[in-house]
Amino acid sequence: MEYRRLGKSGLEVSLVGIGCNNFGRRCDLDQTRSVVNRAIDLGINFFDTADIYGEDGKSEEFLGKAISDKRQSVIIATKFAGNMGTGPMESGASRKHIMDAVEASLQRLGTDYIDLYQVHFPDLLTPLEETISTLDDLVRAGKVRYIGHSNFAGWQIAHAHWIAEHHHLTPFISAQNHWSLLEREVESEVIPSAKAFGLGVLPYFPLASGLLTGKYKRNEPAPSGTRLVAGPMADRVLTEKNFDIVESLEAFTKEKGHSILELAFSWLACNPNVSSVIAGATRPEQVESNVESVSWKLTADEISKIDELTNFNA
Ligand code: NAP
Repeated sequence: MEYRRLGKSGLEVSLVGIGCNNFGRRCDLDQTRSVVNRAIDLGINFFDTADIYGEDGKSEEFLGKAISDKRQSVIIATKFAGNMGTGPMESGASRKHIMDAVEASLQRLGTDYIDLYQVHFPDLLTPLEETISTLDDLVRAGKVRYIGHSNFAGWQIAHAHWIAEHHHLTPFISAQNHWSLLEREVESEVIPSAKAFGLGVLPYFPLASGLLTGKYKRNEPAPSGTRLVAGPMADRVLTEKNFDIVESLEAFTKEKGHSILELAFSWLACNPNVSSVIAGATRPEQVESNVESVSWKLTADEISKIDELTNFNA
């Protein structure tokens, strides 16, 4: 397993991480344990969850139980700001909500510190100074070791950096954003901003919920038990436009003696701004394939061809 620094920080994370949003929803505790144990056996140390994942915080709870005897060697990233209730202070990035949310996450995770605490979504109603100074307090109190953000735009990344620097507060070290072969919008503003301000990038939905594994075929029913069997997510992802791209990428990877799963991981991993590719998994065998899929070193010509096949204009 390759390990990379998370941005400019000293934290070293495995290049293949585990996204934990299946835990406590599609994976019960036993299944969560089998995915987590296999991941750790294969050298994965980075687990990304959030307070809103799973039913009633069950993702954090199951992850905490699964790693309880290995806490020190595992890096837990979690998030706050999503809706944890219907009240006015049960979401967002205010001092009030962060202080409540961190205690609840620590309790569910069964730990006394969070390695990476991330703002899940920008909160446009709370001054960013309030959010960053509260996170700085949590770092100083030892409850949180590093801080990151998610779904920030390029200008918000620059604004956050300026606030931390100007007020001598703890800086963000990571940016978690939607990024895959099928979703490249971040490459115009977010990735250059992350690079400029020394953030490690954590691409989410790297497999487009499984479409980039090759298991879904145009005009064929989704394999039973898979995430995209039906529902709004399936409607969003299994589109004609996406199948056009996936089929052309599959033809390209076949020609090169690789699979589309290898391309999905390796293409992100080839970008030096990426610290960890946090794919979700529901079974240990998926973790095994994912760990094996990260070693294709793409050439500049191959990367240009992929730009063409994904209709990307820099
Ligand atoms: P993803 O990584 O694009 O896809 C994961 C799904 O792909 C798995 O649930 C599994 O589907 C399938 N899969 C994985 N490996 C496979 C393999 N080797 N062979 C066949 N199928 C495989 O999507 P994601 O899990 O939703 O996203 C990754 C992580 O990003 C999340 O867990 C979460 O931590 C994070 N995230 C963050 C945000 C944010 O706003 N910050 C938003 C979304 C996600 P089956 O379920 O069909 O087995």
